[in-house]
Amino acid sequence: MSGGDKLDFEIRPNPRPVAAAEREALLANPGFGRIFTDHLVAIRWAEGKGWYDARVEPYGPIQLDPATAVLHYAQEIFEGLKAYAADDGGVVLFRPEANAARFAASARRMAMAPLPESTFLDSLHKLIEVDRGWVPTADEGSLYLRPFMYASEVFLGVKPASEYLYMLIASPVGPYFTGGVKPVTVWVSDDYTRAAPGGTGEAKCGGNYAASLVAQAEAISHGCDQVVFLDAVHRRYVDELGGMNVFFVYDDGTLVTPELSGSILPGITRDSVITLARHQGRTVVERQVSFDEWRADAASGRLREVFACGTAAVLTPIGQARWSGGELTVADGGPGEVTMGLRQQLVDIQRGRAADPFGWVH
Ligand code: PMP
Repeated sequence: MSGGDKLDFEIRPNPRPVAAAEREALLANPGFGRIFTDHLVAIRWAEGKGWYDARVEPYGPIQLDPATAVLHYAQEIFEGLKAYAADDGGVVLFRPEANAARFAASARRMAMAPLPESTFLDSLHKLIEVDRGWVPTADEGSLYLRPFMYASEVFLGVKPASEYLYMLIASPVGPYFTGGVKPVTVWVSDDYTRAAPGGTGEAKCGGNYAASLVAQAEAISHGCDQVVFLDAVHRRYVDELGGMNVFFVYDDGTLVTPELSGSILPGITRDSVITLARHQGRTVVERQVSFDEWRADAASGRLREVFACGTAAVLTPIGQARWSGGELTVADGGPGEVTMGLRQQLVDIQRGRAADPFGWVH
């Protein structure tokens, strides 16, 4: 594709799609990330050629040469967003252009060819069009969209690859919380950090998640659901969770969230919460928050609620935090009013059930 040209997608329908009855059975209880739709999108990039060979084709395995660069040096990025069945029978996407922009930013950080944002959006539309029957209609279900891109060049030299493969796959998912929203307990890691200044913390690259797994395992071994990472320099300031951003709600109604320092993933839910809360007249402050402050304010009662946010769970109350030296409970440990209110408002906008003053829903 030369500058500005629109890429045409070749459509190769799956000759053996999952039968409708079987699909309905799968959609009744999809779980997370194990069931995939009938098709995928693939687009190639090569140096000197640009983006080419855009296809919608049957979902299936990829054959990789053992010397494919991504298997050795992890030049890989991804995104995650959801398509929802709206009450009027349509399918809606929530702020997909923000994912397109973040995908391009991640590509630049990883020295990869950025996919034009319009092509990213086209790929979502093409896949949803052919696999529309896979969008769950049950309450709180959604079609999770996973765009990703990797260094497909077969070469063992350490350098930016001269070939990339972009792909989009889709997986129907059930509600994140079955049986009502439950507060989580988090483990504040002092053994591991996630991202250092100048590193890849603000990029959505696979390596960040590989590095976080041992900390997540440590959290689970301490009876916690998720890990909270502190900043790598002072080991004092709260960065984020393994896959979610974090907010603090104070007794005067103010929301505080760690500022985007370069080490934090700029969450689209985080940005939406900030916008929504400000729209309602709340004060939202982006600044450094130390774990000492979290402890002191939980103890004094000034801190009323803490929540994590991300595409997967929207907003999740954090009831307790544990660390090597003890544990704290935020207020009474239950889901807070502000958290649950913002959660409901976001869910309603995402599903096309409430007015969308910010033009977020497509
Ligand atoms: N932080 C990390 C490390 C994440 O993986 C995610 C999920 N993408 C988030 C925050 C939340 O981002 P978003 O709201 O865009 O899903």
